[in-house]
Amino acid sequence: MRFTQLLLARVMPPVVKNFDYLVIGGGSGGIASARRAAEFGVKVGLVEQARWGGTCVNVGCVPKKVMFNTAMHAEMMKEHKDYGFDVKCNGFDWGVVKKSRDEYIKRLNGIYESNLAKSKVDTIVGKATFTDDGCVDVNGQKYSADHIMVATGGYPFIPNIPGSEHGISSDGFFELEELPKKVVVIGAGYIAVELAGIFNALGSDTSIMIRYDKVLRTFDSMVSDSVTKNMEDDGVKVIRRTQTTSVKKEENGTLTLETTGGQIKDVNCLLFAIGRNPNTQGLNLEKQGVKLDSKGHIIVDAFQNTDAKNIYALGDVCGKALLTPVAIAAGRRLAHRLFDNKPDLKLDYNNIATVVFSHPPTGTIGLTEEEARTKYGDDKIKIYSSVFTPMYYAVTQTKHKCSMKLVCLLPEEKVIGLHMVGQGVDEMLQGFSVAIKMGATKKQFDDTVAIHPTSAEELVTMR
Ligand code: FAD
Ligand code: NDP
Repeated sequence: MRFTQLLLARVMPPVVKNFDYLVIGGGSGGIASARRAAEFGVKVGLVEQARWGGTCVNVGCVPKKVMFNTAMHAEMMKEHKDYGFDVKCNGFDWGVVKKSRDEYIKRLNGIYESNLAKSKVDTIVGKATFTDDGCVDVNGQKYSADHIMVATGGYPFIPNIPGSEHGISSDGFFELEELPKKVVVIGAGYIAVELAGIFNALGSDTSIMIRYDKVLRTFDSMVSDSVTKNMEDDGVKVIRRTQTTSVKKEENGTLTLETTGGQIKDVNCLLFAIGRNPNTQGLNLEKQGVKLDSKGHIIVDAFQNTDAKNIYALGDVCGKALLTPVAIAAGRRLAHRLFDNKPDLKLDYNNIATVVFSHPPTGTIGLTEEEARTKYGDDKIKIYSSVFTPMYYAVTQTKHKCSMKLVCLLPEEKVIGLHMVGQGVDEMLQGFSVAIKMGATKKQFDDTVAIHPTSAEELVTMR
């Protein structure tokens, strides 16, 4: 072998395996796409650097929902007496639920791994990087593929302020060994609202620090108003128009926050929930011709194509609708398009239903009232709304209102937005999202006979 050939062979190791489809990222989107592609008889490889299941399973939806359920127990306990139960609570042991939650996730990791084996997807453990010649390197082994898909997700953003290393992110929330006594959550989106609600329900002295006046500012104003009010009614301190400028760890282990609104002392847990960054660093994507936006998200077209031929991306790494079912749906459709002769298949990103597990929860789909008025003009929009006390609270001391809003487009009164905050709306939304996706009108809602007594009946009886 000549010297240059020898040198090249050392710099670029030979390809160890060729795939039809190589997926980078074993989270929601990657696993769904890889397994679906394998159903079509193609040779699929899936690379994961950490735990199978990605964010949702390990540090997202799944452990969060366990904690939301835990918080629901704490909330319902307050109403046991009103319903005639003489029950004494002798305390709450965070460690018990953390242990069973961790065990559950470990089981899920195993189930994901064995499902991948059953689907005959080749799993590769390690960090993937594109090589300059368009292959993928994992642990010094080189893989080539006809089609490569990137679903590497994201990670929590921590602000660059002195002492921010003393704070945690949502990842750290799932590592907490005990319920902190005093918590400050910084942020105003999904994660801040959900985790502050859990801390508060379980008994932490909880504050949420926001830059403006309301949480969930990008949602319909009914939602942001109701959720902000509910949080305050429940005892969460909403610290408005305030930002933390530095964090100091004291000798006794507590944190002191310097903020634009003064000092906050004796904080046991500071949690940042101010958005997530895409996992695109170190992938050598630019070298492949894959374009990124200013925040590092991969730019894709409606078919999940990047700017580089035969390289695709989907899920959180693209920065659009960061939700597990979105990543799964986009991943499966891509597999059908590439390997199942469905060249026109793509995910419709309109009318995606979403729930924020606030207390009580929030469910929303379609345009907000504000978006609808801007898009169609005030004279084309009719709003139906209702605020009522669900029957569950008829005999209880504590009361939580349920708020609902339908945004309708005239003249047919097509329902183009549905927004709800209240007990049970998290389970109510899915069915209504089918109707809205099908283009249902208010009249068709009203033609549906109500189910009584439920909160959901309000959606087909609103006047
Ligand atoms: P991920 O699931 O993040 O998977 C990406 C995978 O790629 C990771 O496993 C990562 O280790 C791997 N990876 C990254 N780089 C490389 C590399 N170079 N080589 C190999 N592997 C790599 N969504 C909902 O729909 N409902 C919820 O209730 C909900 N709750 C959430 C709660 C929290 C606290 C958080 C943080 C998120 C929540 N989400 C929820 C969002 C949801 O988790 C994400 O939208 C979803 O996981 C995105 O899937 P993905 O496949 O794009 O990425
Ligand atoms: P989000 O984008 O939902 O919210 C972050 C919010 O934090 C911003 O909207 C902003 O609100 C505020 N913020 C931004 N920068 C700062 C700053 N420097 N200081 C203080 N506040 C700041 O991000 P999350 O991290 O909450 O969640 C990421 C994504 O994960 C979500 O968008 C969602 O798609 C997904 N997710 C889904 C869940 C579900 O389906 N139930 C649950 C959890 C996450 P403002 O501009 O008002 O200040």
